Amino acid sequence: MLKSRNVGLHAISGHSVLRLACLGAALLFSAVPTPAQNQPVRIIAFGAHPDDCDLGAGGLAAKYAALGHKVKFVSLTNGDAGHQSKHGEELARLRRAEAQEAGRRIGIEYEVLDNHDGKLLPTLEVREQVIREIRQWKADVVIAPRPNDYHPDHRYTGMLVQDASYMVIVPSLVADTPPLTHNPVFLYYSDRFTRPQPFRADIVVSIDDVFEKKIEMLDAHVSQFYEWLPWTMGRLQEVPKDPLERKKWLASTPLAVRKLQPEWREVLEKRYGAQSAGVRHAEAFEITEYGRQPGEEEIRKLFPFFPEITPRP
Ligand SMILES: [Zn+2]
Repeated sequence: MLKSRNVGLHAISGHSVLRLACLGAALLFSAVPTPAQNQPVRIIAFGAHPDDCDLGAGGLAAKYAALGHKVKFVSLTNGDAGHQSKHGEELARLRRAEAQEAGRRIGIEYEVLDNHDGKLLPTLEVREQVIREIRQWKADVVIAPRPNDYHPDHRYTGMLVQDASYMVIVPSLVADTPPLTHNPVFLYYSDRFTRPQPFRADIVVSIDDVFEKKIEMLDAHVSQFYEWLPWTMGRLQEVPKDPLERKKWLASTPLAVRKLQPEWREVLEKRYGAQSAGVRHAEAFEITEYGRQPGEEEIRKLFPFFPEITPRP
């Protein structure tokens, strides 16, 4: 690992780009320790707003938590802009409380940072916040949006996490927080944007067994799913007043339910075999090029959800 750290220092000194590329590739692909059989997998997911992680990976998080693994969601902004009638500190307080309740409902940690909503920029200061979070969590897996998205806060969250990857092992950066000994696996949430290239599903996880839990989690974000988002779509009057009825409504609306895309089916079948045909709800992730590249054995350790199936010839 000492060698890897030297590579990191070399990288930031700006010497030979070619040499860096070669050493960087060696670092990304080298064999590194993965969580032992009895060690929990440690996952940290980033979102721009206090509901983004929940939409992209709420089911995955519930599955990990149920198996005793450690999950933390981090919202890089405090959500203090996205509402039609509530604003500022009052809204930030509400959003933080909703996020913490959402985390409590599935048994994970949830932190909301105090950067302003709608004003997130990929600054060095926020990149250092991200590096600190990943290091403090001792993450094996890091999840973030892709840096191409309709919302600038989402885009910059993707960029900030991308820029933190690899730097998490460089000791002289963010020296107040011990570096990781190896680069985690970095994943992107799924999305439907196609430029400059579409999302590629590398890991698809059935969430049918935790779908209700995911809805429970989303239901905690009252000011988002029952107020702000329906208002932006001109559908506020559709939201039932009764808490049980509105939760049922939430479970049936595209606001909360990301459709299992036809192109995910092949990857799902590879992992679940014949069982994949019955899967209704799933979450998909792309393995980024900037983190460690896990082999098949490590994928099975990091995503301990897939049934033992006979591989197709
Ligand atoms: Zn968002």
